[in-house]
Amino acid sequence: MSLVSGRAVRTAAVLLPAAVAAAHIGPAATWLPGVRLPLFPGLAGTGPRRHIALTFDDGPDPVSTPRFLDALDELGVRATFFVLGEQAVRHPALVRETVRRGHELGVHGWTHDRPWWPAFARDAEEVARTVRAVHDLTGHRPRWYRPPYGILTTSRWLAARRAGLRTVLWSAWGRDWTADATPASVRARVAADLRGGGTVLLHDSDRHSAPGCWHATLTALPTVVRDCREAGLVVGPLRDHGPVPVPGGMVVPAGVAGG
Ligand SMILES: [Zn+2]
Repeated sequence: MSLVSGRAVRTAAVLLPAAVAAAHIGPAATWLPGVRLPLFPGLAGTGPRRHIALTFDDGPDPVSTPRFLDALDELGVRATFFVLGEQAVRHPALVRETVRRGHELGVHGWTHDRPWWPAFARDAEEVARTVRAVHDLTGHRPRWYRPPYGILTTSRWLAARRAGLRTVLWSAWGRDWTADATPASVRARVAADLRGGGTVLLHDSDRHSAPGCWHATLTALPTVVRDCREAGLVVGPLRDHGPVPVPGGMVVPAGVAGG
């Protein structure tokens, strides 16, 4: 009797948090390729057919970000950098330099943590804090939000919406955060999902990835841009996607929203 009761109690103790966590982290399925697009097409950062949005996560990083700024200058490309608030306030000159060179800033969160548990107040505060930091440093108010690891929980989605940000993930990535990433693998992974109107995810820092993996990204960058251009696509920041905002705070393709 006591054994059965004990099991029942233990089961309930495990299931209840699991159910809470599932409700909280449910939208995390959006990071799965193949699941993300059909279920949440607006999250993929879809824009005009001839445009590709180029985005970088996890900076600013004083070691690697300047290298990307120089490379982008050489390529004549502007991009969107999803920055971490704690990094931005540590490197204010680099943040300002990124904007001075014509790039756009988005919010990647204050820190790069995983959402193990619902944290509505904390998420709201941290997203808002990062928006304030970017605005104070640059005079520009960010428009975009991308959660760390692409894990979009309910509380993070609400936090972004309250901060006036539009949540956008990606439609192609280079898987450039892994230790075995090479320039060729990064280029191939992006090319595999390269579609006009898409959004490409890369990283300008290895602070939350395998050490040194940004070198592969940097070396691959000219080839990624060349592939886009040879496909007749114009590479630019998310602001050039011309998205249509919807009340949910996500981004939907202009063609869909227009009817
Ligand atoms: Zn990240």
